[in-house]
Amino acid sequence: MIDICGRDDMLDLLRNSARKGALPGVLLFLGQPGSGKFSTALWLASLVNCQADVGKPCGECILCRKIERLNSPDLLIVRPDPDTWNIKLEQARGLASETCFAPIESGRKVCVIKDADRMTEEASNALLKILEEPPSYMLFILTATDSSLMLPTVVSRCFRFRFSDLSDKIIAERLITNRRLPPSEAGILSSISCGSLGTALAFADNPEKMNRRIKLMELLTELHVISSFSLSVKLDGLCGSPSDFIFIKNIILTWLRDLILSKTGADFGRFINYDFDSRLREQSANVSFESLREIASFMFEIGKASEYNVNPVFCADWLFQKIWLVFSSGLDSGRKGEIFG
Ligand SMILES: [Zn+2]
Repeated sequence: MIDICGRDDMLDLLRNSARKGALPGVLLFLGQPGSGKFSTALWLASLVNCQADVGKPCGECILCRKIERLNSPDLLIVRPDPDTWNIKLEQARGLASETCFAPIESGRKVCVIKDADRMTEEASNALLKILEEPPSYMLFILTATDSSLMLPTVVSRCFRFRFSDLSDKIIAERLITNRRLPPSEAGILSSISCGSLGTALAFADNPEKMNRRIKLMELLTELHVISSFSLSVKLDGLCGSPSDFIFIKNIILTWLRDLILSKTGADFGRFINYDFDSRLREQSANVSFESLREIASFMFEIGKASEYNVNPVFCADWLFQKIWLVFSSGLDSGRKGEIFG
């Protein structure tokens, strides 16, 4: 059974539209990675094809099971090429020719274009005609993080659904129920997942990621006392992929939030990284609000750069070096000599 968390209103809307025969032929699901877009696309593919008349995917019939296992001949999934991280013209052309054929065993052929904001301009143009007037047996579901990276002519052809961030409470409850995590660990994971259940589950299923969080927090909370050389050594191998960079960025955001809270004298129980309480307090005494604001503005700039395909390894290095510089420039001259020496 396809499991979707915290999207009841959206599922109701999709269910009602499908029941009335008013489901648009081209949908765009917008939200951050791990927000449930792809699961909802599969749920909808099952809903429109399920053989049981129960008003929702039964999860039991042959069509529901094939869709859930991604082996239905009437389910087309297009993803960015793993090398270029783009959806290329050839992929779009292949898809357009597939849509000429009616479904083999289902009522509706469903095409899911994952990360449609990674489509090249040529690929987007190749799909414009089919998205303008899709055959009645087709349902297109595009998923994307940022619609501003898509051609406006594609976006205008889609009926948009926004997958907002889930609350920490909903995510923590799901981690406690589904992964049997203790509440304290579920609390940390939900906070560092920035509203994405998929990210939280990936952390929970990967103890190595939790160890990486600890290493990152150790590095971040010593940035005011380490040398530039030591930082360079510690950055080596820290980030190797776009998903690594998202993880690093999320951890830095929680660290920044905790530093701001610490400066306001907040109780450590409100810290996301409360296991680093004493280090955060010591560090916050060495940094001004102005410097923290400066770091927040780097985060924004670098986050944008990473969306525009700038190398994630470079982005991570750049971000840490910038943060280190903010700390070192905020120190008095004697302390600077100690660090730079
Ligand atoms: Zn079914």
